[in-house]
Amino acid sequence: MLYIKSFTFNPFQENTYLLYDEKGNGTLIDPGCFDLAERKELLDFVTEEKIRITQLLNTHCHIDHVLGNAWAKKTFGVDLLIHKEEAAVLKAVEVYAPNYGFVGYESSHADGFLVEGEEINVGGEALKIIFVPGHAPGHVVFYHKDSHQCIAGDTLFRGSIGRTDLPGGDHELLLSKIKSQLFTLPEETVIYPGHGPETTIGFEKTHNPFVGKNARS
Ligand SMILES: [Zn+2]
Repeated sequence: MLYIKSFTFNPFQENTYLLYDEKGNGTLIDPGCFDLAERKELLDFVTEEKIRITQLLNTHCHIDHVLGNAWAKKTFGVDLLIHKEEAAVLKAVEVYAPNYGFVGYESSHADGFLVEGEEINVGGEALKIIFVPGHAPGHVVFYHKDSHQCIAGDTLFRGSIGRTDLPGGDHELLLSKIKSQLFTLPEETVIYPGHGPETTIGFEKTHNPFVGKNARS
């Protein structure tokens, strides 16, 4: 059984996800927590639920998804895993964080790399690593096949898709990858996006104005 707890952090209203199994083995994904109150909120939940966080993952490394990386690595003593194409994206945050007003941002680096098609475990639960570049060059999503749930980062949103005007963005690539990598998942698959509410593959196939059946291409 896989449990998914979401938090919404920082001025970008980024969704941070904590995945854990029934034994309390946890994986933290995209920790956007920056101020003390946000970090306390996450820590309080971890303590109350007796979760043991054993790894840290990033879907991609834009600033709003990595603000809590260094803190999480230290606090939980975990390694950070990202796709290798995101290493430069993560490095760039050090340079532009002050421009966004994040004074005191602590840099972090990856301890290992996520590989497309491989699986990563949350305790006894397996997540498949799916490569969906376009919003960011090394963007991956994490799919739990047993429960049809997907942590999708900034690929697909309810009624929208990730922006592609940032460095390394590619609009046509994102459209094609959503169709080939996400829309081939079962219709009932629940999408947990990096911003905004959950949705499903079936709903977006019908209604999404960018990639749905009535999208203007
Ligand atoms: Zn992003």
